[in-house]
Amino acid sequence: FTGTDVYQRSFDPQEYLREFYRLSNSQGQPNTFLMQNLRALWKMFSLEGLRGDTLIDVGCGPTIYQLLSACEHFQEIIALDYTDQNRRELEKWLKKEAGAFDWRPVVEYVCELEGDREKWAEKEEKLRKKVRQVLKCDVTKANPTEPVSLPPADCIVSTLCLEAACKDLATFRSALRNVGALVKPGGHLVMVTVLRETYYAFNNQVFSCLYLEKNVVEEAVEGAGFDVRFSEVQPCPPGNAGADCEAVLSLVARK
Ligand code: SAH
Repeated sequence: FTGTDVYQRSFDPQEYLREFYRLSNSQGQPNTFLMQNLRALWKMFSLEGLRGDTLIDVGCGPTIYQLLSACEHFQEIIALDYTDQNRRELEKWLKKEAGAFDWRPVVEYVCELEGDREKWAEKEEKLRKKVRQVLKCDVTKANPTEPVSLPPADCIVSTLCLEAACKDLATFRSALRNVGALVKPGGHLVMVTVLRETYYAFNNQVFSCLYLEKNVVEEAVEGAGFDVRFSEVQPCPPGNAGADCEAVLSLVARK
C-alpha cells in the first residue's frame, strides 16, 4: 500500500500530468481513458439537480479536468488534496504561472462536448475565478480538512482518489463517510473510480490501488448515507501500460 508519506515524497505532479493528461501521446494515439472520463463527467453534471452554490473536489491532485463541466453549475469551488506539490501545481495553473500545465486541448474537448469548442478561454477564466481555496486534506480523517471546518457543500466530486488513498475496504468505507459528511443532506456526490485495478505507475514509481468492484463501491456509497442515482461502467481502453485497471465506474449519488 502506498501511504500518504510516499505520495508526499514521490508523487511528481508534472510527470503525472504528462503521463495521463495529454489528449494524445507522443505517437499521436488518442487518450481514450481521459476522453471517456471527460464525457462521463459532462453527462453526470448535466443531470437534473446537480447545481448549487458550493462544490468541493476531494483529492484533486494537480488536475482540473474534473471541474470543467462542474464549474458551469456551481458558484464556488474548494479543491482539496493531501500533497503539497499537487496543490502547488494546481495553484500554478490557477495563477497562470510560468511552467503550468497546458490544459487547453482538454478544455477545448469539453467545450466541444458542451456545444462550442471556441469557448475554451472563457471556461478557463470561469474556472479560475470559481476556485476559491486549495486546502490540505486527508480522507482517512473524520474531518478531512482538520483543523479547518468547512461548511457543508452542495456537491462533492472525487476522481481517482479514494481507491488510491485507502489501504483496504474498511478504510474505503470510512473514507466515504468522512467525505460524505462534507456535503449537505440533499446534496450530491459525483465519483469516478477505477475498477479491478491494483496499481498505476509513472515516472518509474508504482502506486497501489484498492481493488474494487462496482457493487462494492455502490454499497459503500449507500453505507455512507447516499442513494445512487446514476452508475455506469466503461471498460478501460486496452494498451494502457501505466495501470492494470479493467474498467471505470462513474457514479452520482444523493445524500
Ligand atoms: N483527482 C486527480 C488525482 C488522482 S491521484 C485525478 O483525477 O487525476 C490520487 C490523489 O490522491 C493524489 O493527488 C494524492 O495526493 C491524493 N491522496 C492520496 N492519499 C490521500 C489521502 N489520504 N487524503 C487525501 N488525498 C490523498
